[in-house]
Amino acid sequence: MLTVESGVGLQPFNSMAIKARAEHLVRVQSDAQLRQALELAQASGWPVTLLGGGSNVVLAGDVAGLVVVMCSRGRRVLAREPHGVLIEAEAGENWHQLVCWTLDLGLAGLENLSLIPGTAGAAPVQNIGAYGVEVRELFDSLDALDRETGEIRSFSLQECAFAYRDSLFKRAAGRYVILRIRLCLQSRPCLRVDYAPLAAAWQATGLTRADARVVAELVMSIRRSKLPDPALIPNAGSFFKNPLVSARVADELAARFPTMPQFPQEGGEVKLAAGWLIDQAGWKGFRDGPVGVHREQALVLVNPGGGTGAQVLGLAEKIRQDVLQRYGVLLEQEPPVVGG
Ligand SMILES: Cc1cc2nc3c(=O)[nH]c(=O)nc-3n(C[C@H](O)[C@H](O)[C@H](O)COP(=O)(O)OP(=O)(O)OC[C@H]3O[C@@H](n4cnc5c(N)ncnc54)[C@H](O)[C@@H]3O)c2cc1C
Repeated sequence: MLTVESGVGLQPFNSMAIKARAEHLVRVQSDAQLRQALELAQASGWPVTLLGGGSNVVLAGDVAGLVVVMCSRGRRVLAREPHGVLIEAEAGENWHQLVCWTLDLGLAGLENLSLIPGTAGAAPVQNIGAYGVEVRELFDSLDALDRETGEIRSFSLQECAFAYRDSLFKRAAGRYVILRIRLCLQSRPCLRVDYAPLAAAWQATGLTRADARVVAELVMSIRRSKLPDPALIPNAGSFFKNPLVSARVADELAARFPTMPQFPQEGGEVKLAAGWLIDQAGWKGFRDGPVGVHREQALVLVNPGGGTGAQVLGLAEKIRQDVLQRYGVLLEQEPPVVGG
């Protein structure tokens, strides 16, 4: 049965711990409950806002209409084939628990993506990535409900149009509800430890045999040392994407700022480190009333004082303007704005 709650405080539903309210909220555990919730919203004229774990959103204020929280659970091995093992997870599965489950099964591929907060269903939305790996590299397919046609359909890798922190589902926000995802994992680990901080930690282990569990432990330990735990210091992870600029702009910047890190991409563009730009501009550790910039990681905006979404977004705008003025580079916000 579907339980609709009204006037629900959303602080426990977002990792920035912003105190906004949902006009109505429902936790859905199955495709059938999702359909019921969407039908109710349509019949009542309520706009729908979709949430997983709330670790990649900024609540600008109260959310009108119906907040649908994806709580469907279930994970399974679908097929064991010579080139890989196909697994499936329901959208509401906790991402990190899913990673641990695959490691327990002796499967590799997700170890670099350990400890990323949120749900399995949201992982393809911004093509989550960390330590040199993106989820698209392990992706097989997903099922999603198309809210325009009411149909459930399967999406292949190509159809998802994944890009850096981007996908069809982020661009067409609100149209598709991801129900379950399928990933193709390795029974023989093919480790990716070339990303600088991880490479150093892996070398220090002295191991020569590929061991996905060890890599997962290293990733978790690096993450714990660098990123604030949202349960202690509310945050939404990286607040800005790393900007992509043309090779010409990158050359001009390198001439003016010789220590600026630059990462050439396939296709000719160059990726800059948003954290470096913000750090060099002097924002690391900055406090603006209840909100601020993390003192260890300039890319992470924090909300230790229970600030509002407007205060978080106000600080983000000041940083964007400052970086634009200093470097001529426009930062793009990573977490979408919800409500207000
Ligand atoms: C401390 C911290 C560290 C982080 N580190 C990383 C990192 O290393 N790499 C990285 O990529 N991200 C990182 N993130 C961001 C975040 O963890 C991921 O984006 C995660 O996938 C968000 O999942 P969620 O369930 O919390 O999504 P939510 O925040 O609930 O939702 C995010 C967006 O996805 C949509 N959505 C959610 N579920 C569905 C669904 N089932 N179908 C369709 N749309 C849906 C929502 O409507 C919303 O627009 C970090 C966040 C924090 C707080």
